[in-house]
Amino acid sequence: MIEVSSLSKRYGNHLAVDNVSFSIQKGEVVGFLGPNGAGKSTIMNIMTGYLSLTAGSVSIDGFDVVEQPEEAKKRIGYLPELPPLYTDMTVREYLYFMCDLKKVRFPKKPHVEEIVKLVKIENVFDRLIKNLSKGYRQRVGIAQALIGNPDLLILDEPTVGLDPKQIIEIRNLIARLGKNHTVILSSHILSEIQEVCERIIIINKGKIIADDTPDNLSKNLSKDHSLALRVMGTEAELQKILASVPGIKALTSLGVKEKGSVDFIIEPKPGFDIRAAVSERLAERKKTLLSLHSNEMTLEQIFLRLTEAADNGTLYFEEKAELADMPKISFDLDMGVATLEEETSAEENNEEE
Ligand code: ADP
Ligand code: MG
Repeated sequence: MIEVSSLSKRYGNHLAVDNVSFSIQKGEVVGFLGPNGAGKSTIMNIMTGYLSLTAGSVSIDGFDVVEQPEEAKKRIGYLPELPPLYTDMTVREYLYFMCDLKKVRFPKKPHVEEIVKLVKIENVFDRLIKNLSKGYRQRVGIAQALIGNPDLLILDEPTVGLDPKQIIEIRNLIARLGKNHTVILSSHILSEIQEVCERIIIINKGKIIADDTPDNLSKNLSKDHSLALRVMGTEAELQKILASVPGIKALTSLGVKEKGSVDFIIEPKPGFDIRAAVSERLAERKKTLLSLHSNEMTLEQIFLRLTEAADNGTLYFEEKAELADMPKISFDLDMGVATLEEETSAEENNEEE
């Protein structure tokens, strides 16, 4: 449904989008994830025909956004970063106005009423937009995007500036819309994208650095499988027992988190699955294992790892099979924060200015 090939955008001499290609199939719900300034809005503005491109092409359902903008735009509902709301209009006036602007040919009344119901703004239908809360305004912005029944919805940071309750509501709305639309949404907040998207395109400094399902992203990047365990006993005795298990690269004690037990993180040597050996050895010594689980990376950690790797000139695509060379995440467990170890083996690559 969407083909973006070798897309670049230059503002003056700043390259904001750098040779980006991807395609999106009908029905997909895709998240653009990247830090502020990554180029997400620029790509969306080009896809929707609101901004010219410097090189490459974008087509929507086979219609080139530069050659056939009318045809392409008809298929897209767009919620820009700053929705074009006419704040002196009521919601009703605004949505009918948008019907005229988009040259909607079918009966307006049932169309507007259906959308108003779908995005749950019936109760503010006759209020002035300027008197609405940010959450309601955002829903009016989404309603506006739905006018004309476009198949494709492009939503730029739809939850920015909303409170947690409003965020959940908008997220649920997007999930509902995703059932019968192709949706692209952007965010700089991972948890938001993770919740609703079946595919994540990570953008950093104008380039795509990863494009995969949330599951695959976390699987492919957490192959080292460090283990977190909680065992009953004292630190000294347990340390001794655990250290005797073959295949351990590093053993770190986290101290007592639950009375009578000690928490440990075990990092196995590459290629070793030590789960069975650990539990058997503890059983031999009559030590009770309270919990044992793989210390999987959160998407937040993955994101950090990918963006750092990209800054070092290493891309996820190329490195899938060679993850041992990626910068290593170490866990600051008390803070619950992941940090990157300072030294990486990735070679310097400064061709990008
Ligand atoms: P994002 O939406 O991911 O935060 P943007 O697409 O807004 O990123 O911006 C990408 C880069 O392009 C940023 O470095 C930004 O400063 C720059 N940029 C965006 N719009 C303009 C503009 N109209 N003129 C000059 N530079 C711009
Ligand atoms: Mg933006």
